[in-house]
Amino acid sequence: MQVALIRYTPQPEETVAAAARLCYSKVGAMEILEKMDPGQADRLLSQLLSSGHLSPFEHVSFTFAIEGLSRAASHQLVRHRMASYSQQSQRYVSMKKLEWVTPSTIQRKPETAATFQALVEEVHRFYCRMLELGVPAEDARYILPNAACTNLVMTMNARELIHVCSVRLCLHAQWEIRELFTRVKSEVEVVAPRIGAELLIKCDRLGYCDEKESCGLYPTRESTPQPAAAR
Ligand SMILES: Cc1cc2nc3c(=O)[nH]c(=O)nc-3n(C[C@H](O)[C@H](O)[C@H](O)COP(=O)(O)OP(=O)(O)OC[C@H]3O[C@@H](n4cnc5c(N)ncnc54)[C@H](O)[C@@H]3O)c2cc1C
Repeated sequence: MQVALIRYTPQPEETVAAAARLCYSKVGAMEILEKMDPGQADRLLSQLLSSGHLSPFEHVSFTFAIEGLSRAASHQLVRHRMASYSQQSQRYVSMKKLEWVTPSTIQRKPETAATFQALVEEVHRFYCRMLELGVPAEDARYILPNAACTNLVMTMNARELIHVCSVRLCLHAQWEIRELFTRVKSEVEVVAPRIGAELLIKCDRLGYCDEKESCGLYPTRESTPQPAAAR
């Protein structure tokens, strides 16, 4: 899988901070931005995050090129609705050359690895045969596996990135989508370190695990003493 940040809102952290300051300012956002220093933006972002005032984070967005993701993972990705996606079509692009993802649990056992590969290749041969027989790609694709690779462009604003990372970096999430958002986080950290640092697993923010069973990183809520107001 390859993940590259291809576009993003310039000066993302200052933009969030200016939008937040504007709400309490007599002057407009242009003047606020002109006078803002980086330390100020950092402090404002921290305040917004600790008070849960996250709407200013919607003003900045990040666009990623994602390549070599399985269709199994892309199905999960596009469930996140506060984002924009463009995905390679299996109707308009014929899969005469098929690439696919083999999970490590399958790859590391010789008996499963060999059969998995043989079956995918067999399915692919039949797909190509159907195309030769005049079956349109939009119908022949019904035989293709979830393992088939896909390419996407995804744009997400920073608020949604914070939300999605909180659930998809969690060990309860599936390994491939977890890997995707681990890479997304690394890309954001380069251009917006303060926002990147907020792309956290939900338990890192909560201080406990809110799932039924903990992976061991934090104890579950039930086994964590809660203040009276939170019970
Ligand atoms: C570990 C894990 C396992 C999962 N397993 C399954 C499964 O077995 N089956 C399955 O079907 N799905 C499963 N999902 C997908 C999950 O149910 C959600 O569809 C997906 O995570 C999208 O997240 P979301 O709904 O929080 O928000 P997003 O679509 O990312 O939207 C962000 C936020 O915007 C708000 N929002 C968005 N749309 C609406 C709306 N229409 N109305 C009100 N508020 C809205 C909500 O506050 C939401 O949290 C799983 C997800 C995870 C992380």
